[in-house]
Amino acid sequence: MNLICIGAHPDDPEVFAGGVMTLFARAGHRVLAVSLTNGDIGHHEMGGGALAQRRAAEARAAAEIGGYTSLALDHHDGELVADLPLRREVVRLIREHEADVVLTHRTNDYHPDHRYTSQAVQDAAFMVTVPQFCPDVPALRRNPIFLYLFDPFTQPAPFRADIVLPVDGVMDVKWRLLDAMASQFYEWLPWLDGRLEEVPPASKGETARRVWLEGFFGPELELPAQVCRERLRAQLGNRADAIRYVEAFQLCEYGSRPRDAVALASLFAPVLNPDGGAST
Ligand SMILES: [Zn+2]
Repeated sequence: MNLICIGAHPDDPEVFAGGVMTLFARAGHRVLAVSLTNGDIGHHEMGGGALAQRRAAEARAAAEIGGYTSLALDHHDGELVADLPLRREVVRLIREHEADVVLTHRTNDYHPDHRYTSQAVQDAAFMVTVPQFCPDVPALRRNPIFLYLFDPFTQPAPFRADIVLPVDGVMDVKWRLLDAMASQFYEWLPWLDGRLEEVPPASKGETARRVWLEGFFGPELELPAQVCRERLRAQLGNRADAIRYVEAFQLCEYGSRPRDAVALASLFAPVLNPDGGAST
């Protein structure tokens, strides 16, 4: 199976789907993490080409840890527009990857780049199958399944968890993905939060930084499990209450749709059933 996660910034696929991407890659599926922008304003001290290069290198390092591939397009961070050229780029990306599953943001999101990423992917959700649109790349004969990444926003509609995937078992890797993105998780996000002075310097060693990172970013990563607990209980019964980290997805109405909840769950077998056993 070919999975593509299309985020706006170089850390979005990792934050919202890093566990799922890692488990799919481990199961032998082809996984591509895409950032539609180059992330060139996501820092308080550096910017432009130097930051774009640093963030691309960090994303590649994370992808290497997770066993998947990463790609950043060269749109300026903060300036993404869901125009026709972007629609063509997204259509070509999905076709070239021969995607079966496409993950992206929802359109009601705080960040304009997330909104327009979502819009561009939705705009591609039918066009990937239309041969005369971007005829230079063969159209897909089967429309992929499109799913939205988790967000906490409620207007005009709250996130609806159609499938909730426990990722506790792969959190060691997920933390390493984020740890590889030092410009974000040890610099920019702590600075935004007014907590930059708390960050242990690299000289304190990797363990000190990782412990700090889990304290700093843990609440953010625990939020999907809290918000989607009811759905998780419906899927797993009492076992749901012991789960701390999940990645949750909402089905997009466009593209292909799985027949039912069982078909949707079977799509995510590499996550629900990482060892290939019979129980979910
Ligand atoms: Zn983002």
